[in-house]
Amino acid sequence: MDSARPWLHHYESEVASTYEYPRHNLAYFLVQAAGKNPQLPALYFMGKKIKYGQLMEACYRFANGLRQLGVKKGERVAIMLPNCPQSVIAYYGALLAGAVVVQTNPLYMERELEHQLLDSGAVAIVTLDLLYRRVGAVMPRTHLRHVIVSSLKDYLPFPKNMLYPIKAKRDGADLSVPWSESVRSFRTLLASSSAIPVMEEVNAAEDVALLQYTGGTTGLSKGVMLTHMNLIANTLQTKHWFHKAADGQEIYLAALPFFHVFGMTVLMNQAVVRSGMMVLVPKFEVSEILSLISKLRPTVFPGAPTMYIALINHPDIREYDLSSINVCISGSAPLPLEVQDRFEELTGGRLIEGYGLTEASPVTHANPIWGRRKIGSIGIPFPDTEAKVVNPATGEEAGIDEIGELIVKGPQVMKGYWNRPHESEAVLKNGWLYTGDMARVDGEGYFSIVDRKKDIIIAGGFNIYPREIEEVLFEHPSVKEAVVIGIPDPYRGETVKAFVIVREGENLTEEELNTWCRDRLAAFKVPRRYEFRTQLPKTMVGKVLRRRLLEEELEQISAA
Ligand code: AMP
Repeated sequence: MDSARPWLHHYESEVASTYEYPRHNLAYFLVQAAGKNPQLPALYFMGKKIKYGQLMEACYRFANGLRQLGVKKGERVAIMLPNCPQSVIAYYGALLAGAVVVQTNPLYMERELEHQLLDSGAVAIVTLDLLYRRVGAVMPRTHLRHVIVSSLKDYLPFPKNMLYPIKAKRDGADLSVPWSESVRSFRTLLASSSAIPVMEEVNAAEDVALLQYTGGTTGLSKGVMLTHMNLIANTLQTKHWFHKAADGQEIYLAALPFFHVFGMTVLMNQAVVRSGMMVLVPKFEVSEILSLISKLRPTVFPGAPTMYIALINHPDIREYDLSSINVCISGSAPLPLEVQDRFEELTGGRLIEGYGLTEASPVTHANPIWGRRKIGSIGIPFPDTEAKVVNPATGEEAGIDEIGELIVKGPQVMKGYWNRPHESEAVLKNGWLYTGDMARVDGEGYFSIVDRKKDIIIAGGFNIYPREIEEVLFEHPSVKEAVVIGIPDPYRGETVKAFVIVREGENLTEEELNTWCRDRLAAFKVPRRYEFRTQLPKTMVGKVLRRRLLEEELEQISAA
């Protein structure tokens, strides 16, 4: 027994290493699926299905096309697409060609896009005509040699209004593309390239498959280097978690964006490794998703808490049949208990909470899907993953139920940050990744996240964990969403401010909410200020941008 972690024996056999992680190109998962199951549907998009065999052919064409354009092994290829067939083809195609994929958020404006393209040194980018304008504007200031543009009409009928309608309108829906030697059509590239199988040999443990940018919610965005091995490991570790279902049986609701690491590993790579079908959702529209679930009967629905919250709050939810959903994995932010209960009641499936971060490909912990789970906990470490809670001041391991920083070690932990050795050294020590999350572990080895280290509010010398206050606010029946930040305070250093969205049709005053909090929290934790809003700034996976809220607050203070 591990003397430092006496709880390990509770689940050691469950998480013990059973894998020889294959050392190949990550795209080999698709080659395998297409070889075994060419006739099975791989993608469903806007009423049509694409089979594994067809998807494979398109990926080979794309890989050969990139090579024809002179893209070499290790060069970076950016993908700026919502979930659609092109995003899957570009991803596996670039990997087959030995390129490093750089996922780019299609909502990025020029400043963010330029930073990411320059920092990664991307030589090519794949995008849509609808998004071309922003790419074209920054192109001269980057290393881009090629822009590969897919038309909305390419591949499958792709109604214009399905894609970011508001954004398109704001951009003037400029679909004109100045075709040239350096700006090519995606469709023509596929049509003019060979479908001969290609797969660049890689050193799986060393060669980077993906530069995944992170830090958008907390500071300057950095490129996380994830190797082929990192992603193979995390894909297989996730597969192990699902061990009950057979290959080719599952239908995945692909609502999480693939350009986020959670969508990429737990959805796209996971569906492919199990020869499942992905129902591609380019934009999260609640009623659209509900009809898709009733019609296509997906069985697996990985998501972020805000997605589940949006669904359960839909007024006509009872009219849709959600009973096909067997398993949901929620990650990227804490999952409120009420949401978990209600969603399970509606679907009859299991909604389990997991945890991860971009630097770990991303998953390191999850509640067992079929075994014992603990509500409010992120569960137990994945196979081959070690986890500890340490005192941030001394570095010593914290005792049972003591709060400290969560550190993790495993084959999914990144190689480092791209071109940022100092920042890599600060978080990677002896193979341990310092997550920056405060956590505790109970006597049975189940972990819980208390908060982000940097989100802790220190008011008058007291440590306050925003999440604890958010949970109390969330329990109020009229509260739909709540987030808490620390704002500057001349006496206490910081003080607590709550931003609250009230459920439609409900009335809630600041006094009522304050009484609610005073009855449930120590006085020093009760928010000093409340602000009611109808929306909160969020990332694409629905994580609240606390930094944005703080910036707004600081602007108001300096303007006053
Ligand atoms: P990202 O790298 O953008 O995926 O963000 C990773 C961060 O999301 C982690 O460091 C945590 O702070 C947070 N996170 C992910 N999953 C959870 C969870 N289940 N509960 C609380 N926080 C989470």
